[in-house]
Formats: sequence, C-alpha cells, structure tokens
Amino acid sequence: MSKRPVPEAAPTHRAGNVVIVGRPNVGKSTLLNRLVGTKISITSDKPQTTRQQVTGIVTRADAQVVFVDTPGYQIEHRSVLNRAMNRSVAAGLERVDVVVWVVEALVCDERDEAVARLLRGGIPVILAVNKTDTVKDKKRLLPFIARVAGLRDFTAVIPISAAKGWQMNDLLGAIVPLLPEGPPLHDADDVTTVNERFLAAELLREKLFRQLGDELPYATTVEIERFQENGNLRSIQASIVVDREGQKAIVIGKGGQKLKVIATAARRDMERLFGGKVFLEVWVKVRRGWADSDASLRRLGYGN
Ligand code: GDP
Ligand code: MG
Repeated sequence: MSKRPVPEAAPTHRAGNVVIVGRPNVGKSTLLNRLVGTKISITSDKPQTTRQQVTGIVTRADAQVVFVDTPGYQIEHRSVLNRAMNRSVAAGLERVDVVVWVVEALVCDERDEAVARLLRGGIPVILAVNKTDTVKDKKRLLPFIARVAGLRDFTAVIPISAAKGWQMNDLLGAIVPLLPEGPPLHDADDVTTVNERFLAAELLREKLFRQLGDELPYATTVEIERFQENGNLRSIQASIVVDREGQKAIVIGKGGQKLKVIATAARRDMERLFGGKVFLEVWVKVRRGWADSDASLRRLGYGN
C-alpha cells in the first residue's frame, strides 16, 4: 500500500457568530456594512432604523465571522413594537461567541449603561469606541476609554471609525482568536444570510427615513408583496404601510413626487446590491394601529 504524502499542517480555521450591540445611533449598522464592504444594514441619523436582525458575513482565509446587527436597545417607548424589539435584542445574545459593544466616542450615558447591563458574563465582550473621527484631540479619548472600561471586563478595547473604515482590521484581529475552531458556516462569497426580499424592504425603508425624517410616523413599515426573478431582472411590488390617511399623503407627496424620489433611490440601491435590473412598484397602504397589535407583529416576523 502506497503511503499518501503527508499534508502540510493546515492552518487553523475559525468560524462563529458575533453580535453587535449598542444603543441606537452609535453606528452599529454602519460598522456592519463597513466590515462586510457592502450595504446590508440600513443606517440613518434617526434612532431605531434597524428593526430586525441583519447578518453580515466576513470571509477571510483563516476565518469566517458572521456578524449580527441588533436593533438598538430601546428603553424609552413602551409599545408592543418596542417590547418585541427588546426581546430580539435579548435573543441575539444567546448563540453568540463574541459581543462587540459599540459606544460613541466621548459619550456614554445611562442608555449605553443599560445595554451594558444586558450583556451576560461568560461571553467575551469587545468594546468598540466608534466615531473617533469626530474627536480632534485624540488624547481626550484616553480618560473616556478608562471610564467605560471600568464598567465591566472587556477582552479588548478598540477605538474605531465605522464611517471612515479606521481600525477595522484591528477589530477583526481581536475577534478572530476568540472564535471556535471550525469550518466556514457559509459560502465564501455570501455576504449575508438574509434574503433579497428582506434586503429590498430594508432599502426602501431606508429611503423613507432619509426623505421624510421626522415627518415619518414611527410605525411606518414596508412589505414586499411580490418578488420575482426573471434572468437578470427582478420585479418587485412593495407596500409602504402607514397608520392614517394623512400619513399616506405625506409619503406620496405633492403630485406623487415624494414617492417617486423614494422609489427611484431604492431601486438604484437594489440594482447595485443585487447586480441586475430592478422593476419596482410601490404602493402606500393604510392600516390602523398595527404597531399596537401583537398579531401584526407576529405576521411580520418580529419578536420570537
Ligand atoms: P445604529 O443605530 O447604531 O445602527 O447607527 P447607524 O449605523 O444607523 O449610524 C447612526 C448615525 O451615525 C448615521 O448618521 C451614521 O452615518 C453615523 N455614523 C456611524 N458611524 C460613524 C463614524 O464612525 N463617524 C461619524 N462621524 N459618524 C458615524
Ligand atoms: Mg442600525
């Protein structure tokens, strides 16, 4: 029997789940997009933009990291929607190998500390101090970092700028050694585990937030009614669901202008992300009080 050549010792491969937590607006979704290099999670300067969990996959030769972006932990509002979101934040902390807790440089208030209290022991936590690009005198970061680092044990503390892409490799370098050894969990070219249908809804919702800002009622949502792929063309029918007739008028705008701008911007982003042509039709529907109905929430897949 001929002996097979001895393979060279394979380098260790690691794979695991990393959850990104932090109060709204600290830059979690921006960080996820930056790490993955594609726009997966929608961002806005309005808190609460991310309502469901979005994953982003980073594949390197030695490791595959699945990041989970959580909706910000909400403690101010008490509606059913917020309770469902809080449950999903808590759920996100279960099957997790590493937690990245994001805070904003020079800002750590009681809302941040409330998030910190959610983090249970036994899972390594990395503190990412984001938006360091906004701090001119970097020396000011040192006492701030010392104060936040005193709140609990951190495996690493890394100043970053998600917007500028600063220290992304440092962050990954701190994460990878903490992951279990194992084969990749997904294909090397997958960037996310969420499907195109979901991404389409998220991109449309982002444009709504961008265009309407504070005019946008808190409970507005997007539903994809139809998603058909035909060769390189995706035909998508979407509904924007609002609470009241008056809100419908705001979304549509004078002569339909607002809706046109929103839909065009969403379609462009979809075409970029999906790498093909998109035919997008958008309707605005009125559904009264859905944010306070547990049944609607379940149908939309929030909560458990
Ligand atoms: P999330 O609610 O934690 O997911 O926060 P987002 O990712 O939606 O970001 C909230 C806001 O902060 C957006 O306006 C981002 O453009 C901005 N932002 C995120 N990261 C940075 C950063 O590193 N520097 C600066 N200057 N702004 C950032
Ligand atoms: Mg977000």
